[in-house]
Amino acid sequence: RLSALGQLSAGLAHEIRNPLASISGAASILQRNPNLDPKQAKCVEVIAAECQRLNGLLTNFLNFARPRPPRLQTIELDPVLESVLALAGHGIRGKTVYFEKRVEPHLPSVECDPEQLEQVLLNLMINAIEARPDGGTVTLIAAPEDRHIAIRVIDRGHGVAPAHIDRLFDPFFTTKEHGTGLGLPVAHQIMRQMGGSLLAQGNADRGMTFSVNLPAKNAET
Ligand code: ADP
Ligand code: MG
Repeated sequence: RLSALGQLSAGLAHEIRNPLASISGAASILQRNPNLDPKQAKCVEVIAAECQRLNGLLTNFLNFARPRPPRLQTIELDPVLESVLALAGHGIRGKTVYFEKRVEPHLPSVECDPEQLEQVLLNLMINAIEARPDGGTVTLIAAPEDRHIAIRVIDRGHGVAPAHIDRLFDPFFTTKEHGTGLGLPVAHQIMRQMGGSLLAQGNADRGMTFSVNLPAKNAET
């Protein structure tokens, strides 16, 4: 997806990093000054917070532009799913969200990069939580299917408008005020590199299902 212009902007993003780190460092020195009046302190706080936001955006963008190659290992899936649920719990912020985990017993091992898989699933979980301002249940399912393992994140949120469904994986496509629109394209790219895939589907009644497919290591194990 990355054209010449994309390569250039990746280079640019990289260049923005260092001065941004300097600004952020300078702001944190100022923050330690006890003599700032409240107005000045507020300004410094804004500088620090916005630096952090930009840095997050750059990280996401660079991950998309230059994802590191996967470090494939043969692993059990369950610990990865547990860790994703634990991390997703931090994203709830005051909402009442229930996580439901359904994992078929005797799942075969999978070959994947566990760190990257965790990143992908966490992004999907956070999107699922964000799709439901009033809270509710998010379901995480893992089951063997043909020659692969399917992991599904199912929500009952507002879903995706038909006009938007083809744009979900486009970089910078977002419907959120503070969204980056990079979560899904990064996740999609990571899954492809791992030899798997990522699919989006609207549920019949409401909400979305995102399916991560991973090649099974060995059907007999
Ligand atoms: P971001 O979350 O920063 O907006 P993403 O790439 O993660 O970026 O998602 C892109 C867009 O896809 C979101 O802004 C939202 O409109 C839509 N989307 C993603 N996941 C869901 C979901 N589970 N339910 C409804 N819409 C979703
Ligand atoms: Mg997202």
